[in-house]
Amino acid sequence: MTQAVPTIKLLIGGEFVESHSAEWRNVVNPATQEVLARVPMATQDEVDAAVSAAKTAFASWKKTAIGARARIFLKYQQLIREHMKELAALLTAEQGKTLADAEGDIFRGLEVVEHASSIGNLQLGEYAENVAGGVDTYTVLQPLGVCAGITPFNFPAMIPLWMFPMAIATGNTFVLKPSEQDPMVTMRLVELALEAGIPPGVLNVVHGGEHVVNALCDHRDIKAVSFVGSTKVGTHVHHRASLNGKRTQCMMGAKNHAIVLPDANKEQALNQLAGAAFGAAGQRCMALSVAVLVGEAQQWIPELVAKARGLRVGAGKDNPDLGPLISCAARERVAGLIARGVEEGARLELDGRDIQVAGYERGNFVGPTIFSGVKPEMSIYHQEIFGPVLCLMAADSLDDAIAIVNANPNGNGTAVFTQSGAAARKFQEEIDVGQVGINVPIPVPVPLFSFTGSRGSKLGDLGPYGKQVVLFYTQTKTVTSRWFDDAASGGKVNTTISLR
Ligand code: NAD
Repeated sequence: MTQAVPTIKLLIGGEFVESHSAEWRNVVNPATQEVLARVPMATQDEVDAAVSAAKTAFASWKKTAIGARARIFLKYQQLIREHMKELAALLTAEQGKTLADAEGDIFRGLEVVEHASSIGNLQLGEYAENVAGGVDTYTVLQPLGVCAGITPFNFPAMIPLWMFPMAIATGNTFVLKPSEQDPMVTMRLVELALEAGIPPGVLNVVHGGEHVVNALCDHRDIKAVSFVGSTKVGTHVHHRASLNGKRTQCMMGAKNHAIVLPDANKEQALNQLAGAAFGAAGQRCMALSVAVLVGEAQQWIPELVAKARGLRVGAGKDNPDLGPLISCAARERVAGLIARGVEEGARLELDGRDIQVAGYERGNFVGPTIFSGVKPEMSIYHQEIFGPVLCLMAADSLDDAIAIVNANPNGNGTAVFTQSGAAARKFQEEIDVGQVGINVPIPVPVPLFSFTGSRGSKLGDLGPYGKQVVLFYTQTKTVTSRWFDDAASGGKVNTTISLR
């Protein structure tokens, strides 16, 4: 007897409910094509119900003591730790990344939960005494109301955890729209959040694609939208939600360059480059997808190719070096771009298109692929490939290499490999990218800082987590107050603006 495929529930007002939608999608294991679950494209009524539950819950949640909010996240971080293996297995089954990398995905989200548990130290105002005679001014950071989050497929644990813990810790209520491609681990994390004590209605979840995202961008009761995903969709979300008067932060696509100087520690630089280009099958917004080799570093291509060739491709649950791409469509797209690269004249040093993984013949695998001689006008350079494909370019000097990176419209991450402090200092100062690594290939900041992608990789001023997100999820209110010693000595009418 075949077992029924489970359905993914909506979370509305503290209840996990079955959608009434007529439109459903399959959640598919990318290594096997096994259908793991069915996910609904929620109806407008269901989106309205989720927002309404969040709006109702906001009235009491915003008045909940900051210590009580913090303690929920202390409990939540403990629950995530206790369920780490179970969460990683679920993530790997639906997303494809290796078990070790799945734990990394969850861990980077867990760090934000830990950060949320210290909200008492983060959501502090300022106070200035005697800004005018007997007048004091102070600020309070008040929650906005109902906020929404829209997340991509590639970090189904970390990115939802970038969003709802900090939004809720700052006193908001939340409607989350996970990726419809891999919502299962996100839903397990949501269950654990409720177990940790998040009250009914404070966290809600709707599933869907374009229509549900548009409904969130248009909803009059949503005050802010946090989005992580592709540049095309993020730009649409930013414009649509902004026109509807919402605050937005949209973290989007990338083309992250490494500059490799000939004085770098060769072995370390090549290992880091291969790991950051091909790890997670290149499906990271901070993957290094372009390396600019300066001067004699151009001689290192054969050694880089040998390292890439040695990486093991397989099903994520067997813990290889890289797993499959998320979908058959993604595999077709990446293979198509590799073909375009060849047509457009780049040199294919390593071709991962025909890789076979024994026992997983139907998996969406592409092996590590390397092009050299890549030029800015080529499709493989100006499109985000989002697969295990590394483009190599050549430059004569650090200045030339910096000019290449700065001419690219994206600004998510970049790295330099060098042993020279002076070169690193120059790179740090002159590179126009928001997240910079010095001998660190994927410089994603820990939550003491904020995620600071820039230029074409971001719309909206304030980034996820850290200090910036506290400002994103709150409205600064400034209070100017004067208390009279003796109301009877009221002075006289003053019609000038000065308070003195
Ligand atoms: P995506 O843009 O296709 O999807 C993101 C979200 O938008 C999903 O929830 C999806 O349901 C929704 N969506 C998809 N099409 C839509 C449409 N036409 N209208 C409205 N909503 C729509 O992104 P993805 O493929 O899931 O994720 C990969 C992308 O995300 C890459 O471009 C990657 O660089 C980017 N990303 C960026 C960061 C960052 O921090 N900058 C982090 C992770 C991923």
